[in-house]
Amino acid sequence: MSRGFLLVLSGPSGTGKGTVSKALLNKRTDIVFSVSATTRRPRPGELNGENYYFVDEEKFCEMVNSKEFLEYAHVHSNYYGTPKEFVFDEIEKGEIVLLEIDVQGALQVKKNYKEAVFIFLLPPTMDELRNRIVKRGTETQEDINRRFENAFKELDFVGEYDFFVVNDKVEDAVKDIEAIIRSEKLRVKRHKDIKDRVLLQGGK
Ligand code: 5GP
Repeated sequence: MSRGFLLVLSGPSGTGKGTVSKALLNKRTDIVFSVSATTRRPRPGELNGENYYFVDEEKFCEMVNSKEFLEYAHVHSNYYGTPKEFVFDEIEKGEIVLLEIDVQGALQVKKNYKEAVFIFLLPPTMDELRNRIVKRGTETQEDINRRFENAFKELDFVGEYDFFVVNDKVEDAVKDIEAIIRSEKLRVKRHKDIKDRVLLQGGK
C-alpha cells in the first residue's frame, strides 16, 4: 500500500475547483476532502462542516493562536484556514487528502510540507472565467471585480506548482488529475516495501 499524501488544488475563483473536486470525490474512494474553516458567510445551500466550518473572526483568531491550522490566509476579504489534525490523521491512514486552497495557502504548505503534490487548475480563457464568476450569481458586483482582479495575480504563481490542469470539460480535468494521482502513487519514495513485494511473489 502506498502512503497517503496531500493533494493541493488551487486556481482562480470561478475556475471550477469546487465542481472538479466534487466530481473527483464522487468517483474515488481513496480521496478525502479537507474541510476548511472560514469567516465568510455561507452561500445558499452550503452546509457547516461539509463545505466549510463557518466561524466568526474571534473563533478563527483563537484557532490561529492555538496553532490548529496547517496554513491560513486572507482571501477576498475573508479568512480561510486548513485544520491540521484532520489532514495528518488521514495521511497516516493512507488516504489522499484534497486541499482546495488559494495560492498564498499553497505556498505556506509548500514551505512546511514538501511531500505534497501541487496542482493549478486553469480556466480555458479569462473571458470564460469572468462568465463563470458572473453566472454563479452568488457575489456582488464589487466581489466579482475583486475576484477577477485576484485571478490575474494568482496566475503569476503557476510556476510554483508541480502540474497544471485546464478545466474546459470537468470530466477531462478529473481524468488529468487521476493521471497525476496514478503516477504519484507509483513514486518509489511513497513505498517502503517494493523489494519485499517482489520477493514475496517467489519464482527465484
Ligand atoms: P470561496 O469563498 O469561493 O469558497 O473561496 C475563495 C478562495 O479561498 C478560493 O480560492 C478557495 O480555494 C480558497 N480557500 C478555501 N479554503 C481555504 C483554506 O483553507 N486556505 C486557503 N489558503 N484558501 C482557501
